Amino acid sequence: MAFEDKTLVCKECGKEFTFTAGEQEFYAEKGFENEPARCRDCRDKRRAQTAARRPRCPSSRRMTVRFIAVTASTSIALRRKGIFA
Ligand SMILES: [Zn+2]
Repeated sequence: MAFEDKTLVCKECGKEFTFTAGEQEFYAEKGFENEPARCRDCRDKRRAQTAARRPRCPSSRRMTVRFIAVTASTSIALRRKGIFA
């Protein structure tokens, strides 16, 4: 099946972006049923935001470790929340 470039509208910034034939093929291969809702810029931005939410500085991590030393069950709870990856 041949794919053709498609123009979609980003739901984040409202700009039009191209869902290229190659990307459509990739999506089809992976079995994704939904078309991308956001342009590449917005997707990159969201990815950066998600990365920024992880603990960034070593000192906050050290505090977490000390906190965990107090109660083992707390460490499990933190791990579940993804704070202590
Ligand atoms: Zn966008």
